[in-house]
Amino acid sequence: MSHVTQTSCSDNLSLTRLRGVGPKMAERLERIGVHSIQDLLFHLPLRYEDRTRIVPIGSLRPGDSAVVQGKIQLTEIKFARRRMLVSRMSDGTGSIGLRFFYFNAQQQQSLTRGVTVRCYGEVRKGKTMLELVHPEYSLVDEHSVPEVQEHLTAIYPTTEGLHQLGIRNLMTQVTDLLASAKLQLDEFLPEAIQQELGFETLRDALLYVHCPPPDAPLDVMAEGKHSSQQRLAFEELLAHTLSLRKLRHRAQQHAAPVLKGNDQHVSAFKQNLPFELTGAQQRVVEEIETDLQQAVPMQRLVQGDVGSGKTVVAALATLRAVESGYQAAVMAPTEILAEQHYRNFLDWLEPMGIEVAWLSGKLKAKPRRETLEAIYIGKARVIVGTHALFQEGVNFSELGLIVVDEQHRFGVHQRMSLREKGANNGTYPHQLIMTATPIPRTLSMTVYADLDCSVIDELPPGRKPVETVVLPENRREDIVQRVEQACRQGRQVYWVCTLIEESEKLQCQAAEDTATLLADALQGIRVGLVHGRMKPEQKEQVMQQFKAGELDLLVATTVIEVGVDVPNASLMIIENAERLGLSQLHQLRGRVGRGSQESACVLMYAGKLSQNARQRLAVMRESNDGFVIARKDLELRGPGEVLGTRQTGMLQLRIADLQRDQGLITRVLQSADILLKSHPAHVEPLIQRWIGESTRYAEV
Ligand code: ADP
Ligand code: MG
Repeated sequence: MSHVTQTSCSDNLSLTRLRGVGPKMAERLERIGVHSIQDLLFHLPLRYEDRTRIVPIGSLRPGDSAVVQGKIQLTEIKFARRRMLVSRMSDGTGSIGLRFFYFNAQQQQSLTRGVTVRCYGEVRKGKTMLELVHPEYSLVDEHSVPEVQEHLTAIYPTTEGLHQLGIRNLMTQVTDLLASAKLQLDEFLPEAIQQELGFETLRDALLYVHCPPPDAPLDVMAEGKHSSQQRLAFEELLAHTLSLRKLRHRAQQHAAPVLKGNDQHVSAFKQNLPFELTGAQQRVVEEIETDLQQAVPMQRLVQGDVGSGKTVVAALATLRAVESGYQAAVMAPTEILAEQHYRNFLDWLEPMGIEVAWLSGKLKAKPRRETLEAIYIGKARVIVGTHALFQEGVNFSELGLIVVDEQHRFGVHQRMSLREKGANNGTYPHQLIMTATPIPRTLSMTVYADLDCSVIDELPPGRKPVETVVLPENRREDIVQRVEQACRQGRQVYWVCTLIEESEKLQCQAAEDTATLLADALQGIRVGLVHGRMKPEQKEQVMQQFKAGELDLLVATTVIEVGVDVPNASLMIIENAERLGLSQLHQLRGRVGRGSQESACVLMYAGKLSQNARQRLAVMRESNDGFVIARKDLELRGPGEVLGTRQTGMLQLRIADLQRDQGLITRVLQSADILLKSHPAHVEPLIQRWIGESTRYAEV
């Protein structure tokens, strides 16, 4: 594994040159992605602490983090809910409590009355006075006062066996090297942009963020808005954009089958549809068709709100592939959604004589073997399934198109490996990705820089907004009555159980209990239950019953979140709605309001609402528009959470923040163009510097 770039070697000096770094330490550093001295410089602080001065206790306020120093007045062991060590300390301006839940006898003895202690910690409001819970502390000799820190203390991401002090020690060495010019860093930003934005040099910016000078403004630094941080954030966003553009470029070097077709299936399908395509659907279908007729693989993302009719668009693309003599694979993130697509495609395509196959991880050995065989010999033309589609042992005969539904659950890496998996003799399948999480254009040009984007910005006609109300849990009886009324009128109802616990088991248990209670309370109403721990056949059976109108009320966990389509369902109750994010609520609510009747959604909450939860529920009450909701979601949660990229490692940002730094994006995109055009040699080292390993991973 070589990290040496062509343009510069000096910045890749080996880590073992540093004091304190032997093979063991080097290995620990590897674990956090640090392989060279340059990597260490780009291991940036998570936050800062102000330990530059001792703060008078009398001036502290809850929420402050501060260094305080004073004399111990009293130390004792208390038993409240648990055993703890409590001290009181004062400095002449006021008193503050110290509280320890973990402590030993020695600690108890050392904090004896009269000794002087220096503490650092976050101030909280206790019962009778302010207190520090588990502060860092040291005993000081009040006559030989130890110095405070000269500048803000940077706090770094750590790993096992490598703690703050250890990292800080290494940082001091590398920043010294950088400051004394023993270490050179290449500048990759375009000169003109650098000047226009008034950016300092890379060297100065790095020195500032690693060891801010004594007068550095903590509040600005805490928000990441200092010019040095912005300089680095800009470069980081640029590196990510370039890396995705490169992926895109590389994808375009590949050949793909030209899917022209003879219109046989496509026009038959359109004729059989019980409705006309919306204008937006038609436009997007045309964009896709144009791509499919090129000899390079399509990489297209279709954004469309819940219920905008993405499935039909996908079906048209698969038919085009099939009538051109190729197979198409349709992948969804959950069993239940994949099953539903399977049903739809089966209903639509089988009458046309097209064989549709089903592949999930839960298939038993024999049917699995048969399906794999059908895929391999090309008998199966459209294959629907979960991730299982792209696992070991699945070999397509001639795959021309991959459709991925609800893309926010997949990251760029999965996208890439999917494509590789479908490769055949140097040709790659086209890719169509569909998401119901719309995001603003500038943002999508960064996070989806490897894709072309289409938007279905119109709902099918006749959709009525879902009337949404927010009610506390103590109104449960009224709500149950409302459910009863709806069912008696022949409408169908979802009751969604959610829990804060991540545990699926508890969630399923809650759904089971609720279903039992509701069935007891609502005599004569047919109640069904689906949750994630049921067997796929069971789930499927219940869903089919609900779809066929054989059940009135469906109690479910959030497994029904994505994609489930039962137009006659017109009332949804969501329990513990305050615990869900906006996009999840919008997805769930999107299960109703699909038919011609008026629909409603009741968001139930328990306990007192936090400020943020109140805002979220208010947004849901006021809007039915996925774009508005997505924008609010971005504001309230930030893009990392919304796009679910944190887990997938798509945009693991060290310093940039897509929300905060949106203002930089236009310039970032410009810089990316300039670099690709005028300084192509800078592109790779810049990507390496910021992303390193993960780009290599993405190429797998
Ligand atoms: P989503 O975009 O959320 O995946 P679906 O594809 O599940 O939406 O479509 C939602 C519902 O709207 C389905 O019942 C589908 O048959 C219906 N539908 C799709 N397009 C149209 C249209 N142009 N006119 C009327 N109904 C449509
Ligand atoms: Mg869908």
